[in-house]
Amino acid sequence: MNYYMWTVGCQMNVADSRSLADGLERLGYVVAAKAEGADIIVLNSCVVRQSAENRVASKLGALKTIKKLRPHSTVALMGCMVGADVFELHERFPHVDMFMSPQSFKPLLDVAEKRMARATSFEYTASAMPPTAYVPIIGGCDNFCTYCIVPYRRGREKSRLVSEIVREVESLVARGSKEVTLLGQNVDSYGHDLPDKPDLADLLETLNNVDGLARLRFLTSHPKDMSNGLIGSIARLAKVCEHISLPFQAGDDEILVAMHRGYTIDQYRNLVERIRNVIPSAAISTDLIVGFPGETDSQFEKSYALLEELKFDMVHVAMYSPRPETYAARKLINDVPPDVKKERLDRVEVLQEKIVTGISAKLLGTTVEVLVEGSKKGRWYGRTRTDKLVFFDDERDLLGHLVEIEVKKTGPWSLQGTVI
Ligand code: SF4
Repeated sequence: MNYYMWTVGCQMNVADSRSLADGLERLGYVVAAKAEGADIIVLNSCVVRQSAENRVASKLGALKTIKKLRPHSTVALMGCMVGADVFELHERFPHVDMFMSPQSFKPLLDVAEKRMARATSFEYTASAMPPTAYVPIIGGCDNFCTYCIVPYRRGREKSRLVSEIVREVESLVARGSKEVTLLGQNVDSYGHDLPDKPDLADLLETLNNVDGLARLRFLTSHPKDMSNGLIGSIARLAKVCEHISLPFQAGDDEILVAMHRGYTIDQYRNLVERIRNVIPSAAISTDLIVGFPGETDSQFEKSYALLEELKFDMVHVAMYSPRPETYAARKLINDVPPDVKKERLDRVEVLQEKIVTGISAKLLGTTVEVLVEGSKKGRWYGRTRTDKLVFFDDERDLLGHLVEIEVKKTGPWSLQGTVI
């Protein structure tokens, strides 16, 4: 029997899909490349942005015919599209059998187990893992940024025990993973709800000792919570990569208050300075929203100026769109016209391309360590410790290997080089 899984959204969704896939494979299911013909079809949804929600809705629509042709298949929708009240979803998508909120996929595994018990016997072989894997360490979020739906869909912060995380990382490494990214909506909050209150720095320290693991990353940090202790650990621990995801969201203090972000731009600027003082090679990526309710031209210009000043390695920029249930959707007026939002987004993208072109150019002729993640069109690709994408040619099977690459060509979105 087989399953098809389609995932959209953040790395947390990718990690949830992997856990569910592991569970299904333990039951004897094999992965299918297409929804047509699959016994179990799962869509793991995201509604953080309107574009993601539209993609899920169109994918769900397409499944209607598939379900009609194969009524015995089980169609499940999970992830952030599924809130507490699923009545409306039932009405809109009657061909979906199960609705499961994020990480609550146990009912599907129960159904899958029953279906498998009725089918033939099987022998389970754990699939090999890709060289990189995601491991959630804390779910939910307590911050309630006014634009964000995560606390409503993923609930309050809940940390996993250190021992449980270590076991999962060891199992991933035993199956071939070399790099693990620890996930949380706000990883810096890790552990505050556990009895002995370990923090992220403690967890990194423990995981740094896992044999066979080559690299550790973590996502996403919150500027109001990132401690000096954590910055010190990143600098000190050999396996922790010098790559920090630190959203600033807006360059204007009034907008930051309206977003309920809990820091000022000066505090953010000081934090970046501290990181760069302690870890000069650190790559910092960020998130930015343009066109938040009430954002004036001059307030946007402050975001633009901050990008010019701090020169991030990567910027994820999004146009504001109201997410139902959130404070901003209920109380604030979405008053920035769509064409103004688009113009601001385009300006950010043009600026950022120029900035990353300059950052990448500095790597020309240097040697970088790359973990080989796969091949595309006959070329190997992988990432540096600072998360730069690198392509190179080599006859050998280097999947999962750490290789030293001399950078021969640079561009805004990737580097090219040769193995030393
Ligand atoms: S920190 Fe804010 S933006 Fe991030 S998940 Fe929590 S509420 Fe959402």
